[in-house]
Parts: sequence; structure tokens; C-alpha cells
Amino acid sequence: MDHKELSELIYPSLPHTPEEYEKIYPQRDLPEGAMVTRLGPSPTGFIHLGNLYGAFVDERLAHQSGGVFYLRIEDTDDKRYVENAVETIITSLGFFGIRFDEGATLDGDIGDYGDYTQSRRGEIYQTFAKKLLAEGLAYPCFLSEEEISAIREEQEAQKLSPGIYAGWSKYRDWDSDPETAAEVESRIKAGEPFVIRLKSKGIPNAGAEETARHAVTDAIRGELSVPDNFLDIVIIKQTGIPTYHFAHVVDDHLMRTTHVVRGEEWLPSLPIHIELFEDLGWELPVYCHTAQLMKIDEDGNKRKLSKRKDPELSLDFYRSEGYHPAAVREYLLTILNSNYEEWRMENPDADADEFRFTTEKMSSSGALFDLDKLNDVSKNTLLHIDARELAEWLKGWSDEFAPEYAYVFRDMDHLAEILDLGRHDARPRADLVYARQIMDFIGYFFDESFERKDEYPAEAAADADAILKAYLDSYDHSDDNGQWFDKIRQIATDLGYAAKPKDYKKNPDDYKGHVGHVSTVIRIALMGRAQSPDVWAIQQIMGEDMVRARIGSVTA
Ligand code: GLU
Repeated sequence: MDHKELSELIYPSLPHTPEEYEKIYPQRDLPEGAMVTRLGPSPTGFIHLGNLYGAFVDERLAHQSGGVFYLRIEDTDDKRYVENAVETIITSLGFFGIRFDEGATLDGDIGDYGDYTQSRRGEIYQTFAKKLLAEGLAYPCFLSEEEISAIREEQEAQKLSPGIYAGWSKYRDWDSDPETAAEVESRIKAGEPFVIRLKSKGIPNAGAEETARHAVTDAIRGELSVPDNFLDIVIIKQTGIPTYHFAHVVDDHLMRTTHVVRGEEWLPSLPIHIELFEDLGWELPVYCHTAQLMKIDEDGNKRKLSKRKDPELSLDFYRSEGYHPAAVREYLLTILNSNYEEWRMENPDADADEFRFTTEKMSSSGALFDLDKLNDVSKNTLLHIDARELAEWLKGWSDEFAPEYAYVFRDMDHLAEILDLGRHDARPRADLVYARQIMDFIGYFFDESFERKDEYPAEAAADADAILKAYLDSYDHSDDNGQWFDKIRQIATDLGYAAKPKDYKKNPDDYKGHVGHVSTVIRIALMGRAQSPDVWAIQQIMGEDMVRARIGSVTA
């Protein structure tokens, strides 16, 4: 049996040859410099900020260059498959404005380079595994799990690198040993399970000098010196399904990906991928290994975001808290590119897509994620969204995640007025951060959520009833802001409070307090809190009935 016969024995009937696949998936007809990128999430049901971070890089690179961005479902790890995970991936990313040009969609595949789900590409991988087998660059391996554990123990004892490589699997050299060749042939014929391994050409356990190195330019990290691989990694599992390594190489070649954006956890596997691309005679894509997302934890230490400890790692967190996608997008751009904030300061009203994103300006040492910073960015982003549009968006959020706030959306014009409060002042109020916070922030406009949270100020607590009665008596809803405040001053002076804070500060013994204390009593009676936008403006939006009812409910 020679290599070709072995390959035929293993894969007797595949529909296409490698050459045919090259024709079925031809070079893409794109303008010079156009980039083809892909997102390859595994359908584990957990879609996280790291996926979104990477997706932004992919999306920007492709769309800035007039290229193509596609979605490929990487479901070769059958143990991790979760029902409806693909829907979750597509809808979660879609929510944040990530749009694919091609690939898996909720209504099936779009594009000429599919199938875009790895589990449905079995014959394609097998065709290229067959090619490697026929060229003596891969071999079937029958080592059992027990044998592999025994090998590992032996390697540990000898202080050698763990794994299957030259010298450790007799099947690797079946072609120079007739007895093993016969065993291989009969076991395949008997239908015994086996994996297909790469027959690596690297020198195992070589010293630094003997290890060949490859110069690879990573678009984020710059020049890398990557050592030769020497591991006979599995390319096709017992089930006939490829490993990530093999699927990555075959798919990114055939789908004509130009830039592979993926997490830095894949850097250690790069030697394997280089060898596979070389064995198959294909050009390496440009790799862009993104940095891990880090945070400063409660103890001031920098650490990786963790699924277990940090709810903010999950994209569901942002959706259910109601962060506006434009805010998350804006924030991610600030951590993606170090020059983004400067650009934003110079172009406050520009669409974020006008910013020229580059991989060179990405951090390679860990991107720092900070929720407080996101909140700050969000406040500013929301200021640029029209109140009516924001109201509609909040309604969509409530319908999906927080139906308990349905009462907020009874009158959308009213809600838009509420949201617009103080946003057009000379120094606009940036009080709105994310939907759940907004529901709380505007809660006093609705009897359903109104609560008195703060206490009357000590200076005026004893007079609260007198202040509020006088207020109610003199209240005229048609007063303008100036007339309204003159009345508060009058109430203050009548009851022994200074009409101006500075008079009280100068002669504190002459007064019970000042006009600010008096107006805070009114504020708390109306809004339940000591801090709020302009009281007069709030009352105009609340309407006279609510103003009178709120004050009336706390007067004796
Ligand atoms: N399926 C891989 C993952 O979820 C994708 C890595 C890649 O983009 O190549 O980590």
C-alpha cells in the first residue's frame, strides 16, 4: 500500500477534487486592497464582549476597504453546541450594529462561498485531508486514550514536550514498516476508529538554535518570529469532523479570507497553522491577533475579564441593562484605537464610521475595559440622539427586557419632553446613561414609580408643612420661571429664610436657612429627591394636576 492507496482506502468516494474546490470557490473579484474578514463564533450560547470587540475590527477592516465581512459558524466542537445559539449570535451582534455581507443568516446562507456552517462542510475537509494523506503529509493514527496518557507520562519523566510527534506514534512511520502498514490497512478495513494526524516536518524538542523560525507580520503586533511546529496534531477527529486548526486553514483559504482577526489565545497555535498552509501550498492570510480584554478589579489589580466574575463580559448584560448600541460602539472604538478619542473631540458630530480605523493603532498588550468610562461615553452619545428617537428606542428595550415599565410609554410625546429636559441648555445636562438608569432617573414623572428617597434638609424640615402650604396657595401654573422663583423667595423671607444663600453665609444667626433649603423641600415633595433638573421646567412637563397632588399629599 502506498500513500495514494491509503488515501483511497480511507476516503474512497468524495464528490470533488481539491482542484475542483479551487474552481468552485475562486479568487474574489474585489478592488485592490479590499479586505475579506470573517467572524467565526462557536455556538456555545455565550456571546461576549470579546466577540463584539473582534467583530468590530472585522467589520471596520472589511467595510472601510470595500471588502466583505462574513459570518461562519464554527460548530466542530459538538460537545459545546447549544440550541438556538446561532440565533443568539446573529441577533446580539445585529443589535450592536454588526452587519454581515455574507454567510450564515437567520434565513439560511447568503453568498457563494458556503456552506458557512462547518459541520456541513465535512466532505471539503476530508478532500484536503485525503490530499495530505496521498502526499505522505498526514497519517491515520490508532493510538487509544490510554496509550496517549502513557506516552504523556513517559514524556514527563524524560522532561520532553508532551504530545504526539516523531518517535511517539508507530503509525507515523507505517510506510517504512510493512507490519504496521498491514495493521493500518486491516484496521481501516475493519472499520476501527482512528484520527488523522499531520505528519509534521519540524524537529521535536530542538534547541533554540536548531528551531527554524518564520517571520510573520501580524497586523496588530508587528513582526513575529514564529518557531516551527513539530506536533502531529489531529486534523480530522474520529468522528470525521475536523479540528479547529484544520477547519481554519481550509475555510479561510477557500472562502478567500484576507485578514484573520482572532483572540491572542490562538497565537500559540500559529506554528501549526503556518505548517498546514505550507503543506497545502496556500498563501498565509494576514493575522490580526487582538489583545485580551482586561479590567481593573476591586483590589486595583489588572486582570482578564472573566465569565464567572464579570457580568459585563456577556453581551446580554448590555442589552438587558439597556445600553444604546451607539454608545457601546462608540466606547469600543475608544478602546480599539488609541487615537479615536482625539478624533472624536475634533469631530463631535461626525458619524463614528467616518473615523479611519487601523490595526496598527490597536493595543497588543491588553485592552482595558472600564464600565465607568462606558457610562461617561454613553452620556455623551445619548445627548446626540433625538429625544423622540430615544423614546422609541427605550420602548423597544422595555417591550423586550423590562415590560414592568410599560406605563412610561403610554404617551410618547410626553416621554420625549421628559427625556429632553435640560438637554438644550448652554451646558447640556448629561443625565441619561442607559435604559434601566433612565427609568429610575425619570421615575418621579410617573405615579407608578414615584418614591420619596431623600429627607428634607435639616435647616427647613420643621417648616416643611408651612413651606408647602404657602407654595400650594401661591402656585400658578402659568407663571414663568422668573415669577415662579420670586414666589419661592417670598415664601423663604416670610418664614425667616435668607432670600440669597450668600446672605445666610454672612450672617447665619439671622436666618433659619436660605432659599435653597426652602426650594429643596419643594423639590423633595415633588420629585422625592434633592437633586434634579430645573424644578420649574419639570413642573411644566408634569402638569398642574400632578404638581398639586404631589404637594397636597404631604401637607397636613
Ligand atoms: N471558533 C473560534 C472561537 O470561537 C474562532 C477563532 C477564529 O476566529 O479563528 O474562538
